[in-house]
Amino acid sequence: MKAFAYVNATNEKEAVAALTGATRGRVLPMAGGMDLLGTMKDYIVSPERVVSIKNLDQTITSAGGGLRIGAAVKIADLAEHAEVKKLYPALVTAAEGVGTPQIRNLGTVGGNICQRPRCWYFRNEEFNCLKKGGSRCFAVEGENQYHAIFGDGPCHIVHPSSLAVPVIAYGGRFRVVGPNGAREVDAGQFFQLPNANLYGETVLQPDEIVTHVLLPAPGQRSAVYEVRFKQSHDWPLAAAAVSLVMSGSTVKSARIVMGAVAPIPWRVQAAERVLAGKTITEAVAVEAANAAVAGARPMSGNAYKIQIAKTAVKRAIMAASRV
Ligand SMILES: Cc1cc2nc3c(=O)[nH]c(=O)nc-3n(C[C@H](O)[C@H](O)[C@H](O)COP(=O)(O)OP(=O)(O)OC[C@H]3O[C@@H](n4cnc5c(N)ncnc54)[C@H](O)[C@@H]3O)c2cc1C
Repeated sequence: MKAFAYVNATNEKEAVAALTGATRGRVLPMAGGMDLLGTMKDYIVSPERVVSIKNLDQTITSAGGGLRIGAAVKIADLAEHAEVKKLYPALVTAAEGVGTPQIRNLGTVGGNICQRPRCWYFRNEEFNCLKKGGSRCFAVEGENQYHAIFGDGPCHIVHPSSLAVPVIAYGGRFRVVGPNGAREVDAGQFFQLPNANLYGETVLQPDEIVTHVLLPAPGQRSAVYEVRFKQSHDWPLAAAAVSLVMSGSTVKSARIVMGAVAPIPWRVQAAERVLAGKTITEAVAVEAANAAVAGARPMSGNAYKIQIAKTAVKRAIMAASRV
């Protein structure tokens, strides 16, 4: 690992001051450090300065009828929080599924949302892939069993954050700070496809950080369903988060987001439209699941993910309808 300077920011102001003027990759924020230190050890990033933001807001408070979750909250604490458990069950299921207890005790909400892709070509310093300034995505002709079935490249990563999927399904927002002050970004607009941003995955400028996740007032029925190769210590192969606004037994509106199938959490409005105005039955859930994967474009080794994603959507809809 290359030597670097270390700044321990104890509040938002210090963090912003230490990040101001950062150009991409030269100064990087670090929360739990689990993902960042891995990318530094593998020479994927080599910052000159690392700014610790793990001591920023670690509270979960009520705000505007919903919740305001500090980015430095540990994933384990999120999963154990009484109000989150009661009001946002899909977020709790996603948090409980992350990695292992050790990972959830160290990893933060902000770090989870901003973690870098797990693509083995991106993570291997020997492959100068598109994301690192190279001229091709090695997954196209290589080992692509865990890569995207949506998004149309040119880089075929899948977004790794389990928490981002339900946050978008709930219609959440991220509070972001930087040298120009604070702004709020709709979580659904926060992540960027490779054709809009090849070297990063979000709208964050190099000198900005996420300080909070803002969840709107609950009132929905919601659920997450993840399909995993292993029960722990790994990321999902496909996931789906569903949140439903009901009028009696009829769905008034729905939000459906798939995870691990595209370079960003993948919202499927075609599937949402299938549910609107209907009472949920297994047949309706299957129709919505079919609509969710209708535009999939698998690569040579990952067509199996279509069935898995379809199953995740159907089961998340059925689970949400029973909450
Ligand atoms: C074996 C294993 C299994 C895992 N399984 C899963 C899983 O199933 N689902 C899942 O979602 N994750 C999984 N993870 C990933 C894990 O949850 C993340 O590595 C962890 O959440 C990162 O949190 P952190 O606080 O350590 O982030 P850090 O390592 O500190 O940061 C991660 C990245 O985000 C940036 N960053 C951190 N905080 C902010 C912020 N507030 N604003 C802007 N940028 C920021 C950093 O610069 C860095 O690039 C797994 C990890 C391992 C090792």
